[in-house]
Amino acid sequence: MTKTHFEKIALIGIGLIGSSLAHIVRKNKLASHIAIHTRKKNTLDRAEELGLGDSYHIKAEEAVTGADLVILCVPVRACGPIAKTIAPHLKEGAIVSDVGSVKASVVEAMQPHLPDHIAFVPAHPVAGTEQSGPDAGFPELFEGRWCILTPTKGASEQDVQKLADFWRGCGSDVERMTPEHHDLVLAITSHIPHLIAYNIVGTAADLEDVTQSEVIKYSAGGSRDFTRIAASDPVMWRDIFLTNKDAVLEMLGRFSEDLSLLQRSIRDGDGEGLQQMFTRTREIRRSIIDAGQETPKPNFGRNKPPK
Ligand code: NAP
Repeated sequence: MTKTHFEKIALIGIGLIGSSLAHIVRKNKLASHIAIHTRKKNTLDRAEELGLGDSYHIKAEEAVTGADLVILCVPVRACGPIAKTIAPHLKEGAIVSDVGSVKASVVEAMQPHLPDHIAFVPAHPVAGTEQSGPDAGFPELFEGRWCILTPTKGASEQDVQKLADFWRGCGSDVERMTPEHHDLVLAITSHIPHLIAYNIVGTAADLEDVTQSEVIKYSAGGSRDFTRIAASDPVMWRDIFLTNKDAVLEMLGRFSEDLSLLQRSIRDGDGEGLQQMFTRTREIRRSIIDAGQETPKPNFGRNKPPK
């Protein structure tokens, strides 16, 4: 039995993140019982077919009853209403957490509903793919990735440590931040890159002088890598932009200014300026590889597609 063992963990939402958690909790024996709730019966049935849990509940309040760890794995705007539903049924002393990609708004939406006798420790595993649903999960998703905790004042150090140990047990490295700082950091490292990807793929699709088939055929020139990001779950990303509005708009302002500078460099034929900028960004890519957050393999480690 590991140090981070929980008797009963309730996973509320069983998409990519919830099902990946179910896999790794089972594999690393992080809990004796995994209770699963999701709102749609066919999703719940699929989770059961895949054997992701020990009990399956169409009512969230039934899943959380007796659980010593409850993790909300749903789109961020669903967190508040779910917190309200489960609040009266939470076990005394339980740890309540989430995996939302935005933190300040999740804290604001959930905190007022939660009773004083529980520890609320929001979290964000910075790990993902463009897939969604219960079939998308796999136990290695969190391996070597960061999980950011944004503990609330009411949570004891012991409870925060317990959740940190849980995430380490899932293979993650753990960091702590305030929710506001988290949202600013993620706006530039995740949210703006997704917005750019959605935009560039949308623009390419709408071009009149270049055909759709040409956009697809020549995508290996660069746009293909944006299409992977632009295939991310539409509901999840709608919620992220609506709930991290201020930080995204602030970073977008900076981005637009820098884009205008690049535009000017191209117009003025400023080769030296362009080269300096691209040299700096190449270094950043190397630092990401050195930090173990990306593969140095050619073609991003992708195999050549079969003919
Ligand atoms: P997902 O694969 O789309 O799964 C979402 C789950 O939530 C499904 O089980 C869905 O169930 C359920 N759900 C959706 N709306 C709901 C609602 N209004 N009430 C109750 N349940 C609802 O999503 P995911 O990728 O796992 O993302 C879940 C959370 O993790 C999000 O907050 C996201 O910000 C965060 N996150 C995602 C990633 C990523 O790369 N995907 C990375 C880190 C964090 P039904 O089928 O029953 O509707």
